[in-house]
Amino acid sequence: MAEYEAVIGLETHIQLNTLAKIFCTCKADSWNDLPNTNICPVCTGLPGVLPVLNEKVVEKAVLLAAAIHAEIQPISYFDRKNYFYPDLPKGYQISQYDMPLAKGGYLDLPIPSNNDPQGKGYIRHVNIHKLHIEEDAGKTKKEGGRRFVDFNRCGVPLVEMVTEPDLRTADEASQYLIRLRQLLRWLGISESDMEKGNLRCDANVSIRPKGSQELNVKTEIKNVNSIDAVRDAIKKEIARQIREVEKGNRIKAWTLNWDDNAGVLRKMRSKETEADYRYFREPDLLPLEISNDWREEILKDLPELPLERRQRFIRQYDLPQYDADILTGDRALSEYFEDAARDYQGATKSISNWLINDVMRILKELEISANELKLTPKYLVQLLTLVDEGKINISTGKNLLQKVQESGKSPLELVQEQGLSAVTDDAAIRKVCEQVLAQSPDEVASYKDGKVTLIGWFVGQVMKRMRGKADPKLTKDILEELLIK
Ligand code: ADP
Ligand code: ZN
Ligand code: MG
Repeated sequence: MAEYEAVIGLETHIQLNTLAKIFCTCKADSWNDLPNTNICPVCTGLPGVLPVLNEKVVEKAVLLAAAIHAEIQPISYFDRKNYFYPDLPKGYQISQYDMPLAKGGYLDLPIPSNNDPQGKGYIRHVNIHKLHIEEDAGKTKKEGGRRFVDFNRCGVPLVEMVTEPDLRTADEASQYLIRLRQLLRWLGISESDMEKGNLRCDANVSIRPKGSQELNVKTEIKNVNSIDAVRDAIKKEIARQIREVEKGNRIKAWTLNWDDNAGVLRKMRSKETEADYRYFREPDLLPLEISNDWREEILKDLPELPLERRQRFIRQYDLPQYDADILTGDRALSEYFEDAARDYQGATKSISNWLINDVMRILKELEISANELKLTPKYLVQLLTLVDEGKINISTGKNLLQKVQESGKSPLELVQEQGLSAVTDDAAIRKVCEQVLAQSPDEVASYKDGKVTLIGWFVGQVMKRMRGKADPKLTKDILEELLIK
């Protein structure tokens, strides 16, 4: 059997998180609202109305374009894409066609070793073909044999971003979506929740013999609404195409619909061609001009990007790739880490450990972001310093995280208030050690016979009597000293 490789290109629709829609002042986010409550004559296409472009939409799209290193066009145009569907009351969608807001650019995807057949991990460089802004259409839904329309989504701002056919596996496609979602949230321009439909993806798939450069007939998979579903759907489609080709059949340019419940692809229609849309310039809107000044003003807010920060964390803080990946998975978390690292005298790896093992659990439980923690970077540093100096032991420290978060009080304050500090008084600990040894003659005998691992058990007994407050290192030293006698 010949060896095949897949060729995949993704078209994504990204709902921007502006307050207002793209051409009117209706509220854009209707997730919690009743159908047809955020609509007006403009977004429902009544005769005689005129669209007015929302600047915020342009600003967010320009941020994204810059973040993917695209060429932002000084002039771009709006066009009408004509088609008839019940959720499109105007009979056309205002989009951009031949002169989009941005062209080119790329996203680099670090593919983790577990998704690499070679087991090493690699970077997939994905070129972006174009990026444009457009309005969304409404929604229809069937219920009890009737069909309803909801126009709330009409005129909600979207960015459409189209890749070149540079992806080669279903896992790479899902990594693309994971990294794109990370970037969108990082820039703060979209909620990017696929389940809510504010990040949508159509996947174009073809196959070819490995090593060949040709682009064969592709199919297009629509309506996939989670990253896992995108991966599953592409895997199934690649397998189907290979079966067809092996049987001597040709691949037809179908549009396929992913049925998430059944986990199968169904043929939806043969593909429309561009000519079917009768594109022409939108006569009601001016060309979109982005002056140098405006672009610079917008790009003042462009932060360091996730991948750059990940590489910098590895270099600057000597962190393993794994840690850097997790800490830069979220912008607020990465900033939290750096704030703490700046103040902390000890090893930065230690901050990373506490964040990944303990603080992230608190974030998950409370469903909050790192910048909302009452356990601020300053407090975390204070707590770690108390541990490092032996003023409290590790388990007290771990409990203290939760207490700081609950009370908003500083670790120092809580330690004093609740008498948590480790007893470092030699005499106090020595007294308890002597008691424990006197009351455990069998264990003492075993220890002296060579079972030195019992030291841990002795330390545990002392800790128990002192309710965890004894300094563990000092306790161990004293016990060893007493046991030699
Ligand atoms: P269409 O004519 O179907 O609109 P485009 O050339 O506009 O096709 O590309 C749409 C998407 O399909 C892009 O993401 C592109 O990378 C991808 N694509 C184009 N050709 C192929 C192919 N042969 N196999 C897989 N994906 C492809
Ligand atoms: Zn409106
Ligand atoms: Mg196209």
